[in-house]
Amino acid sequence: MPELPEVETVRRTLEPRILGRRVVAAKLRRRDICETLPGASLGAADLFEGAAISATYRHGKQLAIEADNGRVICIHLGMSGVLSWSTALPKFTVRDHAHAWWHLDDDSAMVFADPRRFGGVWLSPDMATLRRERWAELGIDGLLVYGRALHQALGQSARSVKAALLDQGVVAGVGNIYADESLFAAGIAPTRACLTVSEAEWERLAASIRQVLGDALDGGGSTLRDYRDANGQQGTHQLRHAVYGRGGEACLTCRSMLQRATLGQRTTVWCATCQR
Ligand SMILES: [Zn+2]
Repeated sequence: MPELPEVETVRRTLEPRILGRRVVAAKLRRRDICETLPGASLGAADLFEGAAISATYRHGKQLAIEADNGRVICIHLGMSGVLSWSTALPKFTVRDHAHAWWHLDDDSAMVFADPRRFGGVWLSPDMATLRRERWAELGIDGLLVYGRALHQALGQSARSVKAALLDQGVVAGVGNIYADESLFAAGIAPTRACLTVSEAEWERLAASIRQVLGDALDGGGSTLRDYRDANGQQGTHQLRHAVYGRGGEACLTCRSMLQRATLGQRTTVWCATCQR
């Protein structure tokens, strides 16, 4: 599932392709992947027809594209969604799962495809409505997280620190891969109850989250299965995971066998020696 580094990589690779381009035509092939926020409809203007793309934004795992008519399209990649740029319009076979596309004035196209359909598109009349209706429920963005914010949000919680990190209302953008990697980098066991974590440890964890997400971003994100950037390129950071997907293998630091268990309903891997 794409997490913050993957979604930010999509934003960074897509933006230079689409910024300033006018949308000649837009097509929603599946209405059930699309929701409208108050003040928006499925009309041509809300789908950017005739408008030029003026900005892109991201909060956590959600991407927003703004047009010069003020309208905003927010895209969530879900499990398997891909937002790509193409020099040709897709052929639209059943197998391409291209649910929506935007034909741009240089004859290129922006295409949203999602085979498993856990992702989706939200149409919003403006950025303020998107921030109020959708982004207000998200916590601080993972690239900006700091220790005091974690301590204030979680200091009294009996939840495991792993489960808490997966909560998008606490830190937006961290999912299973980067939660495990951040906890390993911070030397904190994922099984710890949040209320046993000290202020100094929250600081260390926040710094680790920023570092791990930044490193993954430098590698273009992690491609495990479907993820591609806007140009169709795979990420490279999957080659550098220290613990994610390595349960039963040797810890890269101390050579102990990495533990694996289900926490927060997700497979969790950690080193019982390096993480306390
Ligand atoms: Zn270790």
